[in-house]
Amino acid sequence: MNRKSSKKKQKTNDNKMLSWKETWQINKMALLLIHRSQSGLIATSLMPCVWSALTPYVGIWLLALIIDELSGSRRPQRLLTLVLATLISSALISLADALLKKRKAVEEECRFYYLRKITADKMMDMDFCIVDNPDTDRKLAQILQNQSGGGWGLIRAFRLMEELLTAILTLFGGIAMTITLFTSRVPDNAGTLTILNNPLFLALIIAVMLAVTYIAPLLSNKADSYYAFNSNIHTLANRLFGHYGFMGKRKEFAADMRIYRQDKLCEKYNNDKSGAFCSQGYFAKLARGPMGLYSGASGAVSVMFTGVAYLFAGLKAWAGAFGVGMMTQYVSSIVRLAGGLSSFIGTLGQTRINATFVKMLLDFLETPNVMYQGSLTVEKRNDRQYEIEFQDVSFRYPGNDQYALRHVNMKFTVGRRLAVVGMNGSGKTTFIKLLCRLYDPTEGRILLNGIDIRKYSYREYLSIFSVVFQDFTLTDLPLGQNVAAAMNYDGSLAASCLQKSGFGDRLDRLPDGLETYLSKRLNKNGMDMSGGEKQKIALARALYRDTPFIILDEPTAALDPLAEAEIYSNFNAIIKDKTAIYISHRLSSCKFCDDILVFDSGAIVQQGSHDVLVEDTAGKYHELWQAQAQYYNSQPNPQGSPAR
Ligand code: ADP
Repeated sequence: MNRKSSKKKQKTNDNKMLSWKETWQINKMALLLIHRSQSGLIATSLMPCVWSALTPYVGIWLLALIIDELSGSRRPQRLLTLVLATLISSALISLADALLKKRKAVEEECRFYYLRKITADKMMDMDFCIVDNPDTDRKLAQILQNQSGGGWGLIRAFRLMEELLTAILTLFGGIAMTITLFTSRVPDNAGTLTILNNPLFLALIIAVMLAVTYIAPLLSNKADSYYAFNSNIHTLANRLFGHYGFMGKRKEFAADMRIYRQDKLCEKYNNDKSGAFCSQGYFAKLARGPMGLYSGASGAVSVMFTGVAYLFAGLKAWAGAFGVGMMTQYVSSIVRLAGGLSSFIGTLGQTRINATFVKMLLDFLETPNVMYQGSLTVEKRNDRQYEIEFQDVSFRYPGNDQYALRHVNMKFTVGRRLAVVGMNGSGKTTFIKLLCRLYDPTEGRILLNGIDIRKYSYREYLSIFSVVFQDFTLTDLPLGQNVAAAMNYDGSLAASCLQKSGFGDRLDRLPDGLETYLSKRLNKNGMDMSGGEKQKIALARALYRDTPFIILDEPTAALDPLAEAEIYSNFNAIIKDKTAIYISHRLSSCKFCDDILVFDSGAIVQQGSHDVLVEDTAGKYHELWQAQAQYYNSQPNPQGSPAR
């Protein structure tokens, strides 16, 4: 890619360089965030910075004294004292340095997890509808990619702060050690070299040094900015790499990879030399072009500083302004000073670039919730008399033109069994998501005991539902903790819920009973469960919660017919006086329900009992029933045919 088009690419990027004021504010907020997430970290990290910035000057100073003594009076006693002081001080400095750094390393070990937790906590805090929005996922992925790919973000802000402090202290130490280089005078008999005493000459030397020190990091930051401000390109490249590069390693892909030779799909990506990070890719071209050029120029300019400093100190020593010991001190200190100055300017530049990435995180963390948070408490009724009503509810997913639900009207009371049936995509799961207030209706309202559910405290409202979603999640933790969704649980209740959900026999055969881990990832004695077994555990978890409403989205899809028959025959006993809502494809599973809602294209097209609905030969239910009956009639079903 030529320079013109790379410039164009930079312009098309979303990221913008922030002002210094914004940079300062964002970094301040970043440090506060880090402090809140891990309070001891800042202090523990800064101590080694202060130590390692200032202590090297002790060695430089002592070495200068030794060299001066060697080239001057050569007093054995003084030399011995100086050598001993050098040895003891460097031993003590190294000891303290190691202690401080070790302490810092231990704190930092947890830093990654604490900082990762910041985004995880935010996700938990967000309204479900925001989490479910693909935009949220994109933003979070970009933040995490910037962090793991380019190393930009909160951790970098922290590291840059450490570097800035080290640079400032190095700078002060260097100035203190070299001030006499500029103030000491060459003797008047030094001929033309007395020009070194001329304030104008001094000003010129200092100006050259400052210019060189300023330009070097400027060039290096310019090189860095090519990478930083093309983060959208390397984020995509990283994602592709993450997707293809690691597919072979993932256990859950292993079977499909073999059967469908998905490695061939990846080959195309892996062999593509023009990928963002490959030898013919965008960044490689930048590195061979402007990025490399700026980086090289920066290196060349920075050695000029050392050259000028050596020349100046050498000429002054030659002219007799100071001895060889001081020459050593000046040269060593000035190299450190130059390093400090260059690091200071470079770090400032990097801090400004990094602020753009920290801002992305801060913006993400400030994403406001949009759902109205009511304050009414949900009446805890012993008689469990709850009534739910949908009043002309319509719903569109954010960013979608199409309605997923259209004019839904229905009412049901607790204690009844309600089935929700319909083709795929007809709106069944969306109906449940609205009922659980994971989304609010676009139009219309949902009432609980006559009150709009938005007026209830959200947490309270959620607490009356247990849901087994189709794509439920279990953790790798022990079975009992999974059932109770808590670390501490009532073992006999957990076991009885597992019994009811049909997991009893399996539980009896588990080596560690309720303490069995649900995979080998956390414990080598863990057991991998089949899809059907997992579904039974999820069902037991819903029962353990003992809420007035229990909602099962395709509760038996992964169960074998015998297990399904067992669960259904016991269902009334299992759920007792709870209201149960089933979403099911198998209409035979719904026969025992008091009421059946038939969804079609986002609307309730029929409602009634099985016996009534099946008689309506023009209705959707009859159509679905017939379609399944044909299947069951031609293939004997251990559960019995649903056809009448
Ligand atoms: P069902 O449960 O009956 O299979 P859903 O309620 O899942 O149907 O889906 C109803 C409609 O809403 C479908 O057209 C589906 O594509 C759409 N839909 C479901 N979830 C989302 C989502 N998170 N974002 C956008 N559209 C969605």
